[in-house]
Amino acid sequence: MKKTKIDWADSTWNPVTGCLHGCEYCYAKAIANRFGWHANEPDINERILHEIPVFDGKKQPYPFDFAPTFHQYRLGEPAAWTKPRTIFVCSMADLFGKWVPDEWIEAVINACLAAPQHRYLFLTKNPARYMHLIANGIIPENQPNFWFGSTATIPEMEFFCCDEVNTFVSIEPILAPFEDLTDEGVDPASKTNWIIVGAETGNRKNKVVPQKSWIDEIVNAAKKAGTPVFMKESLREIMCDDFKQEFPWEVNGCEH
Ligand code: SF4
Repeated sequence: MKKTKIDWADSTWNPVTGCLHGCEYCYAKAIANRFGWHANEPDINERILHEIPVFDGKKQPYPFDFAPTFHQYRLGEPAAWTKPRTIFVCSMADLFGKWVPDEWIEAVINACLAAPQHRYLFLTKNPARYMHLIANGIIPENQPNFWFGSTATIPEMEFFCCDEVNTFVSIEPILAPFEDLTDEGVDPASKTNWIIVGAETGNRKNKVVPQKSWIDEIVNAAKKAGTPVFMKESLREIMCDDFKQEFPWEVNGCEH
């Protein structure tokens, strides 16, 4: 487990790494490719690692670069970490991507259940998988320390909402205005328990710099719904005095 620069979590934990969504702005892929070992990519079943590979006398956390890989040897880490933390699970992957076997996800969820002292934040661009996993009993309902997030960078993207579990939407990086959503009845602010919003970082060609009005619109909808909003540091300059960072477990006074 690692202390993180991600400002809405204390730590990251990556029992699964790699992702096939292919987002242009992906920082995780850049890291995995930079520090990867570039080994030939074997079949997915051979990408289950029981111990961290060591090549040339060095530990290799990304032996297959950004190809989805299950680091089974990391499953015991949350239980060994006694101080309660807010953990972003799989910051270097989409744990719920279509290509991830149910068994990998089940093992990760079970590792979280075995360490209930922590709060776990999950995030995906494939939110439909949450419903499937709940229906199959792999994701437990009413687990107050689990938070299930959907990434939506444009308003057309689907997000997950459900009364039985905590949900949030991460609008990061925001690539278009999210206006008039309330009228269409798909407003993430009123349907989920938390909104995270952030601007694209880095120097990508065609990088999208959001206007303040885009963020104001989301904040107003969230305020109406009583939903906390967490702005990433990338918005501090744009939002000036309106910058805010709210956590639902602090704002709403709930334990988790
Ligand atoms: S979903 Fe996340 S991890 Fe996957 S490619 Fe996109 S930015 Fe990277």
